[in-house]
Amino acid sequence: MYLFTYASVGYTRFMENFDIAIIGAGVVGSAIARELSKTTARVVVFEQHADVAFGISGRNSGVVHSGIHYKPGSLRARLDVAGNAGMEKLCRDLYVPFERLGKLTVAFDQSQTMELERLKEQGDANGVPGLDLLESSQMRTLQPGIAGIKALHSPTTGIVNPMMLTIALAEHAYQNGVSWKFLHTVESITTENHNSFIIGCSTLDGFRSYKASIVVNCAALHANKIAAMTAFNEHTVYPCRGEYYVLDKRLKDELNILVYPVPSAHSGGLGIHLTKTTEGNILIGPSNEYIDDPDDESSTRPVMEILKNEGNELLPSLQTSDFIRSFAGIRPKLTPPEKGGYSDFVITSQPDLPNIIHLLGIESPGLTSAPAIAEMVTGLIDNRLPLKLKREWKPSFHDNDELYRRAYPASHYPLAERQEMIEANPDFGSIICRCEEISKAEIVSAIKRMFGPITIIGIKNRSRISTGRCQGGFCIPRIVSILHNEFGIQSKDIWLKGPDSPLFEGTLRQSGGYHDT
Ligand SMILES: Cc1cc2nc3c(=O)[nH]c(=O)nc-3n(C[C@H](O)[C@H](O)[C@H](O)COP(=O)(O)OP(=O)(O)OC[C@H]3O[C@@H](n4cnc5c(N)ncnc54)[C@H](O)[C@@H]3O)c2cc1C
Repeated sequence: MYLFTYASVGYTRFMENFDIAIIGAGVVGSAIARELSKTTARVVVFEQHADVAFGISGRNSGVVHSGIHYKPGSLRARLDVAGNAGMEKLCRDLYVPFERLGKLTVAFDQSQTMELERLKEQGDANGVPGLDLLESSQMRTLQPGIAGIKALHSPTTGIVNPMMLTIALAEHAYQNGVSWKFLHTVESITTENHNSFIIGCSTLDGFRSYKASIVVNCAALHANKIAAMTAFNEHTVYPCRGEYYVLDKRLKDELNILVYPVPSAHSGGLGIHLTKTTEGNILIGPSNEYIDDPDDESSTRPVMEILKNEGNELLPSLQTSDFIRSFAGIRPKLTPPEKGGYSDFVITSQPDLPNIIHLLGIESPGLTSAPAIAEMVTGLIDNRLPLKLKREWKPSFHDNDELYRRAYPASHYPLAERQEMIEANPDFGSIICRCEEISKAEIVSAIKRMFGPITIIGIKNRSRISTGRCQGGFCIPRIVSILHNEFGIQSKDIWLKGPDSPLFEGTLRQSGGYHDT
């Protein structure tokens, strides 16, 4: 009945066959893949990009929200609170940087204090632990110099490295048997009997088709396009961009706790705030602007000006040279611009096709909620295709090498410990990224662990190279040399992010080759 596009009978005989196909390798798709890797189901993930976390999951504030902002009983409230509660252990198990810094939501006038009280009641109803309304003097003991008259303190708010969380979930799923198909853009989904789907993908080698019994649509900004492939057109995704400035680490000790304004009711975000990354950079943002193109991740001059001015007000010691980078992430909102605000996450199976599950509108707090979303989706799948736990599932990484598996780079550890690492592997003493002090040993280990195409951004997301002040000016030529000398990759084959972004256009002259650093 649903015969939308390509499905040739002859071709289907050689098709790879899976129980469950997940579309989208963001934090949500990766968390679901990891949860399903605990079972004997044959699982595949299709991702249009060359790596995981190249979508929204690599472009957000990295805040593990407490759950004060969401309507009691909503999916956002339930899944956020559950995700927050489990995040610390998950990050410990998977060596992902996580810190429970806490957050102040600050009121600047009397009308906002009423909203703070409402947020506290809502948070209490959602089961958020430890909420407290603080007077200005109490606020300033937590964050000296902060303006405002009252604040809601949520001690369970945390920060996580969102790229590393996504990568760790995906890598763990991979080690436990999940198949990953990168550079596979899902173009069509067809079904003949409601219990089996043919998923058509465009790839570098042409069009490929795969078979699966269950499909999970985690395509975020393109989830409505995927839904339309099976004629599920109930929701529109409205892209809404949030731009950020990244500040130099010089300022890291200026912020002890996350600081947010009281959000306005019709805003589609939580207001421009100051957050800290687990690496110690302060982020100013995100803005809140509906746009037409879901893939337009540009930073724009007018928004950058606003962020700069706001930053100067919030942190008076800020200098122009402290702004080191900008980036933008795009929210997949289900509320149109004229309405603003938020709607709940939509996690639903399609009434006429129960074996396809759509996840729509997974905007904030999608990062926090991802592990709880994964449990919920696994439950929905279990109702359709009874799942059996795998006996050989490994709760931690198989190649659990203490030398490399650390949440933070070697430079974070005491000198004596670093000395031991260097004695065990002298490459720990060869610093490739000077800004972040990342060693050759860590870069080589990151490259060896990649389970899809190797890209510079993929190496960066795993090892933190080129995230400092020079933004890769010093280290990228050295990474190129490692890729050539240690992995035999030619410069013409090195991609920044994927096949559309080769790092080199060609060679100027025949040189004597690459020189090790
Ligand atoms: C500005 C901003 C700030 C945020 N801050 C926070 C925060 O502090 N805390 C928090 O909890 N949440 C936050 N969020 C929300 C959070 O980032 C998202 O909810 C979460 O990352 C969504 O993950 P995802 O896997 O659904 O999406 P993505 O990471 O976008 O993954 C979807 C994947 O699907 C792939 N895809 C799409 N179409 C196809 C196709 N046809 N074929 C194959 N693959 C396809 C994409 O390439 C992409 O990789 C923020 C979001 C934004 C935009």
